[in-house]
Amino acid sequence: MIILLTGGAGFIGSHLAEKLLTEGHSVVCLDNLDAYYDPAIKRKNLAEARQNSRYTFVEGDIRDGALVGSLFAAYPFDAVIHLAARAGVRPSVQDPALYFDVNVQGTLTLLQAMQTAGVRKMVFASSSSVYGDSAVVPFSEREACDRPLSPYAASKRAAELLCHTFHHLYGFDIFCLRFFTVYGPRQRPEMAISQFTDQILHGKPIPVFGDGSTSRDYTFVEDIVKGIMQSLYSVKGYEVLNIGGSDPISLSGLISTLEKAVGKSALLNHLPMQPGDVQRTFADISKARTLIGYEPTVSVQEGVRRFVEWYCGEARPQTVN
Ligand code: NAD
Repeated sequence: MIILLTGGAGFIGSHLAEKLLTEGHSVVCLDNLDAYYDPAIKRKNLAEARQNSRYTFVEGDIRDGALVGSLFAAYPFDAVIHLAARAGVRPSVQDPALYFDVNVQGTLTLLQAMQTAGVRKMVFASSSSVYGDSAVVPFSEREACDRPLSPYAASKRAAELLCHTFHHLYGFDIFCLRFFTVYGPRQRPEMAISQFTDQILHGKPIPVFGDGSTSRDYTFVEDIVKGIMQSLYSVKGYEVLNIGGSDPISLSGLISTLEKAVGKSALLNHLPMQPGDVQRTFADISKARTLIGYEPTVSVQEGVRRFVEWYCGEARPQTVN
């Protein structure tokens, strides 16, 4: 297949690009290397894939309709995997317009270009944040998800709805995958596991928002990539699927797991909960199991161990002051 992969220079996208190439596909990656975090990290993420002759990197913006249109004119794409986005819950509270521009307008630009070109297969990266503080646990795709707690969550839910509209109007096949906190090598530097590892290693206090009882369903990046590949091979109709580890751990539990992996104790700085944060995330993955055969295989203990091993081997610039 020839795949248009948006956001392929990022954390998840760069792993996915390598997997697509390994499985014999051709990849055109569209990414504007935005400055949400250091673009040098993204250039490094791209290095391996760029050595493959079936890989093309295009530095550009998904909101640039002319550029996106020219890509569809130049390549006979079989499908689009759309990961490009402004990620991050807390920064979206500060700049909601930017999040809607990239995550909603950008998605619409892509869908319209697909419609013009007659390409009708998409796998879209949505987020567990759309569940807000759902009272139904584990989170099921049957929930209405109409109470998002942050502009980021609202933008992802809005993009899911647009995808449904294109399915309804034009017969697009689209799977919207709700990823549950993804971690692993190349993880975005502002995410908790990256920050905590850095703070433990350097003896700096970890800011613990709330009493440590909030919990997250962490998903190792390898399992996410598997879920995306399985979706690519079976996408049909319009479906929303949870792709998670389905084994949540509390914030305190995560910090102890990291302490063991790093081999050092953490210093803790207790602070109030942050606006936009949810109490817990927990994926019901029964639909993904049935529909695409998705099964996560990497436990948090194993995944954190592999993350810390990678982190300590990286000569990456420190990001925490
Ligand atoms: P990331 O920031 O590492 O990757 C996103 C990529 O999109 C970046 O390389 C960025 O440069 C690119 N991008 C941003 N705006 C763009 C634009 N306007 N045009 C072109 N490219 C643009 O993030 P990630 O963690 O790899 O996330 C990938 C996707 O998965 C995102 O859609 C994110 O919302 C979603 N997601 C991630 C997580 C997680 O825990 N990492 C959880 C749920 C959903």
